[in-house]
Formats: sequence, C-alpha cells, structure tokens
Amino acid sequence: MNFLEERIVKDGVVKEGNVLKVDSFLNHQMDIKLLDQMGAEFKRRFAGRPINKILTIEASGIGIACVAAQHFDVPVVFAKKSQSINLDGEMYVAEVESFTHKCINHVIVAKKFLTPDDHVLIIDDFLANGCALQGLIQIVQSAGATVEGIGIAIEKGFQSGGRIIRNLGFQLESLAIVDGMNAETGEVQFRDQSKMTAGCGCVEPKEGEICRSATLD
Ligand code: 5GP
Repeated sequence: MNFLEERIVKDGVVKEGNVLKVDSFLNHQMDIKLLDQMGAEFKRRFAGRPINKILTIEASGIGIACVAAQHFDVPVVFAKKSQSINLDGEMYVAEVESFTHKCINHVIVAKKFLTPDDHVLIIDDFLANGCALQGLIQIVQSAGATVEGIGIAIEKGFQSGGRIIRNLGFQLESLAIVDGMNAETGEVQFRDQSKMTAGCGCVEPKEGEICRSATLD
C-alpha cells in the first residue's frame, strides 16, 4: 500500500451509496504533510511534461493543487462553480453534473487565465464518473491550451470516469484507485497499480454512469 492508501485505511470512512469520506485529512480538514507528499508524487509521475499551470475546481481541489504547485513552481487556476452565469464573453463555461450533490454545476474560468500557450496539469481530489474532469478538459481545450496530464488523489475505479478519461488518451494518474468499498465493514479494496497497462480496458460506461457536460463559451 502506498502512503495515501494507508491513510485511507486508517482515517477514511465508507458511507452508504459508494461515498468515501476523507474529510479528516483531505477535503475538509487537510493534512498538509500528506498533501505535500502527494504533490511530490505528482511531480514524479509527470516528470518531463512541460507543465506551466495547474487547473483545479473549487472547493476540494484547491488545497491539493496549491501544495502540488509548489513542487511544479507554477500558478494555480481554480474553476469557479456558480448558479448565476454572466456570459460576457470573458469566461469559459462548462456545464457538469455533480456526483455528490446530484445537480448541474456551471464551471467557470476567466479567459485571461488560460491561453493557447498554457500546458496544463489538471488536479482534483476525487474521480468518480468523470463529469467534473470532463468539464475542466473542455475548458482547457476551448482555450486552445494543452492538457499535459491529470492528477487525482482518489479514483473510484468501479465508476466509469477513469476508463473514459484514459480511453480519451490522457495521462491520468490517480494516487489511490478504490475498486470496492463496503459500508458495513468499512473495508476498502485498492487496485494494484503495478499491474495496470498503458491505456485501459475499453469498457463502455454502464447506463447511468454517463455524465452530461457541455461547454458554453
Ligand atoms: P465526478 O464528476 O467524477 O463524477 O465526481 C467528482 C467529484 O465528486 C469530486 O470532485 C468530488 O468532490 C465528488 N466525489 C465523488 N465521489 C466522491 C466520494 O466518494 N467522496 C467524496 N468525498 N467526494 C466524492
């Protein structure tokens, strides 16, 4: 087990409905030494990529992205979520579904903070069905910038996001991939990443796993 998997086993809480709570160390109270280790690991996994910007989404991605940014020595841009959108031509806006809140969010980035010269590492806390991530990818692509890679703290491998994103050809690095969880026993099963091959099995998402996202710019 790696350092993040060990911490999930120690302090993560499995809730009904396939939700893993990691709020005591990752996305409410934050263990900065752990975040720093994660940043170092992202730097190692994306070594050689010409990353000049990190993009994340509020709120939970921000802390992880900021600590990681110290290892890359680059600025962080975070996409804002808002109910009221002011489409004044200065923003990239994508519509994404929220797994946890079961609603549609607008994900917004000011155009001045993403340009065609940017080589972007996208970072987020969780990857489930990949809706949040697809919105961020669309925004980067709308700006004519390049997605150099995607760094995720915890991927839920039994949901479709990881397959979809890897099948699209992106370098997706998840520090922990959860393949199963049991709310009754609290047990969490991790994928052995040393056995993963490049790309991924081309398994199509199941019904109900497909997220809707669209860019409005
Ligand atoms: P997706 O868009 O990939 O379906 O969901 C990603 C977002 O949903 C993450 O940014 C995260 O905030 C939230 N999320 C998804 N699954 C979980 C989970 O099991 N636990 C927590 N805490 N958040 C989750």
